Amino acid sequence: MTDLIKKFLIFLIIFLVLAGLFSIYASPLEQSKESDISTLITLINEEKIESIQISGSRLELKLKDGSVQEIQKESNESLSSLLKNYDVPADKIEKVDISVKSESGLGFWVGTLLPFLIPFLLIAVFIYIMMKQVQGANSKAMMFGQSRAREITNQNLREKITFKDVAGVREAKEELSEVVEFLRNPKKFISLGAKIPKGVLLVGPPGTGKTLLARAVSGEAGVPFFNISGSEFVEMFVGVGASRVRDLFRRAKKSAPCIIFIDELDAVGRQRGAGLGGSNDEREQTLNQILVELDGFDVNTNIIVMASTNRPDVLDAALLRPGRFDRRVILDMPDINDRESILLVHAKNKPLIKDMNLRTIAARTPGFTGADLANLLNEAAILAARRNKTKIELNDVLESIEKVMLGPERKSHILSEKEKKVTAYHEAGHALVAHTLPHADPVHKVSIISRGRAAGYTLKLPLTDKYLHTKAEFVDDLAVLLAGYATEKEIFGDTSTGASNDLKEATRLARKLIMEYGMADKLPPRTFGEKEELIFLGREITEQRDYSEKVAENIDQEIGHFILNAIKTAQTVIKKMRPNLEEIVRLLLEKETLEKEEFEAIFAAKGTPA
Ligand code: ADP
Ligand code: MG
Ligand code: ZN
Repeated sequence: MTDLIKKFLIFLIIFLVLAGLFSIYASPLEQSKESDISTLITLINEEKIESIQISGSRLELKLKDGSVQEIQKESNESLSSLLKNYDVPADKIEKVDISVKSESGLGFWVGTLLPFLIPFLLIAVFIYIMMKQVQGANSKAMMFGQSRAREITNQNLREKITFKDVAGVREAKEELSEVVEFLRNPKKFISLGAKIPKGVLLVGPPGTGKTLLARAVSGEAGVPFFNISGSEFVEMFVGVGASRVRDLFRRAKKSAPCIIFIDELDAVGRQRGAGLGGSNDEREQTLNQILVELDGFDVNTNIIVMASTNRPDVLDAALLRPGRFDRRVILDMPDINDRESILLVHAKNKPLIKDMNLRTIAARTPGFTGADLANLLNEAAILAARRNKTKIELNDVLESIEKVMLGPERKSHILSEKEKKVTAYHEAGHALVAHTLPHADPVHKVSIISRGRAAGYTLKLPLTDKYLHTKAEFVDDLAVLLAGYATEKEIFGDTSTGASNDLKEATRLARKLIMEYGMADKLPPRTFGEKEELIFLGREITEQRDYSEKVAENIDQEIGHFILNAIKTAQTVIKKMRPNLEEIVRLLLEKETLEKEEFEAIFAAKGTPA
C-alpha cells in the first residue's frame, strides 16, 4: 500500500510541475499588450503596412519596407472591431491587405486543447495505473497455477548450444539426432507412417550433461525449448502442480514444434502410493496430469517431451510405458577419452599454455563428471589468476584436481610435532600398503597437509576406468583403508581419532560386500535386505529385513571378520617393509608432500622385500 501512496505522490508532483510550466507558457497567449496594439494603429495610420495575416490572436504584419512584425491581439476580439474601436479611418484599412489564415494548424489545436486535456490525461493515466496495481495483486494469486517454465528460443539464447558443445556421450547423441531430424522435418517421417517417440528420458548420474544435451537438441533443431524442473511442480497446495502442467503444455502447443524439458523428473514422477502424507497427493495429481497430457497430444503435434533423471528406478512404471517416456537415452560417466574431449570443450575459452597436455589431466580424473571437469578448469583459472599468470599451466590444473576432490588445502592448520608424526605414519601406512598390495590402486600423491577435514591424505587413482570390481580388489581396498589405523597401532601401540573416517568407510565397504555383492566367506552368495526409499521426509532409506535374526548375527560377525583380516594384512605389510615405511615418513616430515615419482623412487632405492 505504501507503494501506492508513493506512486500517487509522484504523480501529484509531476502534475503540479506540468501545470506550473504550462501556465508560464500559456499566459502570454492570452494577454495582448497595449503597446502592440498602438503600434499597429500607428502603422496603419502611417500607411506603412502592406498586408496583415491573422491567425488566431497572432497578427503577422508585412511592412512596405519588406520587414515583418508580429503582434498579439486579444483572442476574443476581431481585428475589424478592434480597429473600429480605435477609430482608424476606413480608407486606411482598405489599403491594407488583410487575410485570415484558418487556424487548423497543429499548433493551434495543441495550443487550445492542451490546457484542457492535460489534467484529464494525467487523471486517466493515474487511474489506469491504480487499476493495474489492483489487478496485479489479484492476478498474482491467479498466476499460481501457471507454469513457470522458462522458454528459451533461439533469439534469447545468448549462444546457441549444439551437439558440438557436448563432448563424449556418443551413443546418446546418435540416438537424439533422430529426434532432431524429426523436429526439423516431421513430414518425412509421418508420410512413411513412422511413429516418433513423444517422450525421451535422459538417464545418467548428476553432472553428466543431461540438461546440456537437452538444450543441445533444441539448438540443433532450432526450435523453442521449454525448461521446467520437476521440483517446481510440487507446491504447497494440491492442484497447483497439475494446473502448471496443463498450462505448460498449452503454451508449448502454441509454439510447436518445440521441446518441453522436465528436469529432474523423479521429483514428481516417483512411484505412486509409495509415501505418506498430504504432499504426495499433490505429487500424484501432478504425475497424473503429466500422463494425461502425454497421451493427449498426438504424434503430429510436433512436440517432444524430454525429461531427465538420475534415478530411473524410482520412476512410476506408467511413465515408462510405450507412448510415454519410452525412449531412454543413457549418459554414462565419461571415460578417459570422453574426459579429454570434455576438457577440450571447456578449454576453448580459457588461455592454456601451448603444450598443455589435456590427456594427462583426463588420466588423473577418473570418476569426474562433465560438471566436475568444467569446475576443475574454472578452479585452475582462478588459481592461475591468483598467481598472476596470463596462461593456465598444467600444475595449476593438477593442483585444482585435489581441491575439487578433497576440498581446499589448509596450510594454516598447524599440527604439533607429535600430531605431525602420527599423521605422517598414518598416511605413509596407507601409501605403503596401497603400493604393495597387487589389486589396490597405485598411489599418486601422499601429503600431510590438511585438506578439508582430513589431517593428511593419500591420493590413489586407478590406472584405467573401472566398471567391474572383484572381490580381491575390495579386500585389498579394505586393507589400504585400514592401513593408517594399523600403522598407528604398530608404531605407537595406540590409535588416534584420525582413523575414524577410515573405519567408517571400511565398515560401509565391508557391509556392502556382504549384503549387496554376495562376497561373504561364510554366507551363501545372496543379497541381504531389501532397500526401499520412502519419499516421506525426503530421501529416507529404509531397509526391509528379508533374513532371520540369526543371519543378522552372522552378517555382523562376517563384517568384523573382513575388517580384522584387512588390518592383519596391513600389519603384515608394514612389518615386512618397515624400512620403506620409515623412509616415507622421513621424507613426508621433510617435504610434507610426495608426488608419485618421489614416492616410487623410495621403492627403487630400498627394494621390495619378498
Ligand atoms: P546434469 O543435468 O546431468 O546434472 P548438466 O547438463 O547440468 O548435468 O551439466 C552441468 C555442466 O557440466 C554443463 O553445463 C557443462 O558445462 C558440463 N558438462 C557436463 N557434461 C558435459 C559434456 N559431456 N560435455 C561438455 N560439458 C559438459
Ligand atoms: Mg540437470
Ligand atoms: Zn587414513
